[in-house]
Amino acid sequence: DTNTDSGSNLDQDIIQTDRETVWHHLTQHTQFETSDPMVIVRGEGMRVTDARGREFLDATSGGVWSVNVGYGRTEIADAVREQLVEMCYFANTAGSIPGAKFAAKLLEKLPQMGRVYYSNSGSEANEKAYKMVRQLAHMEGDGRKHKIIYRDRDYHGTTIGALSSTGQFERKEQYGPFAPGFVSFKHCCCYRCPFGKSYGNCDIECARDLETVIQQEGPDTVGAVVLEPITAGGGVIPPVPEYFPIIQQICRKYDVLLHIDEVVCGLGRTGEWFGHQHYDVAPDIVTMAKGVASGYAAISCTVTTESLFERFKAQPQERLGYFRDISTFAGCTAGPAAGLVNVEIIEREKLLHNVRERGAQLMRGLEWLKQEHELVGDVRGVGLFAGLELVSDRDRRTPVAEQLAAAVAAHCAEAGVLIGRTNRSFKEFNNTLCLSPALIATAADIDGILHALDQSLARASNKQAAIA
Ligand code: PLP
Repeated sequence: DTNTDSGSNLDQDIIQTDRETVWHHLTQHTQFETSDPMVIVRGEGMRVTDARGREFLDATSGGVWSVNVGYGRTEIADAVREQLVEMCYFANTAGSIPGAKFAAKLLEKLPQMGRVYYSNSGSEANEKAYKMVRQLAHMEGDGRKHKIIYRDRDYHGTTIGALSSTGQFERKEQYGPFAPGFVSFKHCCCYRCPFGKSYGNCDIECARDLETVIQQEGPDTVGAVVLEPITAGGGVIPPVPEYFPIIQQICRKYDVLLHIDEVVCGLGRTGEWFGHQHYDVAPDIVTMAKGVASGYAAISCTVTTESLFERFKAQPQERLGYFRDISTFAGCTAGPAAGLVNVEIIEREKLLHNVRERGAQLMRGLEWLKQEHELVGDVRGVGLFAGLELVSDRDRRTPVAEQLAAAVAAHCAEAGVLIGRTNRSFKEFNNTLCLSPALIATAADIDGILHALDQSLARASNKQAAIA
């Protein structure tokens, strides 16, 4: 421990204050009766330091895949400071210089889209999209075509509307009743095919399930489908290449809007600007948050096609035919000012290229780990976005006990590497480790992550052997 005495006291003070005052997210606080809460005090590049002076290589980009360009970017902080001094806030009923510049920049990366609507979180960006869909149903018809179809295992946010469109047990249980008008269809994880089929002999039934659900509900009642391009917290699930073209075709057939939730995959995570750009698909709505300003400011966007926007413009003002929605802090200029520099960094440092190269290295390493460790059942991912599904029996694909996945993550932290994992108690699928290092990761960083995983899996398989 290199802390001075006074430094340690200060650290103990802040840990104690945190323990006594802060209610942490996703946390059962009884654990802090016997252990300290982690308080992160510094970040630089790929690394963070906690109040006790421990340094970690962060393979999570801030815990939940957010800090895409890494920590300690003074360039972003300077731009935000200058902007706030010049003009900090005015409601988004008026425009701002960074707001206009950032929207134009974002649309360069999404050439088929036309308008950017600002808010403050991923959940909110999705809520805006749902409200657009519902309002269109009312403005252009009798309100019947308002239902939104979502997919099992996808997550779209924490507010009641967003949660109503989420297909994850742990997030939803005990928070009902949910909003009406949200209906689910099957997930697309080949490793655990919901139809018991295998790829090559399945006719992509998981995508066709969307049509089944639209028909069951009645096509005149369905306004949109919302999908993550690659399911993130539900287990890192990239779809097969045929998947999105089939979804698109079904949407066109039934006049259903396609909303892609890029909250995790957006802004370079997968090696393209947006996750859906790996596939042959043209969404009507794209939402994004986390990586938009890499966590340096709170900003999210609901981006629509110009034709969707025009449908609102075509309505008369006196019949309330405009989007009557506002988020107070979408008028804070810190968000777009940070977002603009964030995108410039990704461009200037050619980070998409880095993600492809380092992502290939990461996937090769994970495939090797799968050969070495019986515990690894499946390896999935695109770019610097990967999941490692752990099983206690490879042939039966039996998910490991939750404690075992937690133990691997804890061993990695002891070895100085922070990794993530999917929801606890996510019924049978609580067993996927998640890797999402910042887009600036070097070859040595990736090796460091793989090395820690290798050792931690070995330690955990000894435990597994002891249990069996
Ligand atoms: N959509 C996806 C795909 C997410 O993973 C998340 C958060 O993890 C959200 C939406 C919600 O974002 P926020 O926590 O900013 O509301």
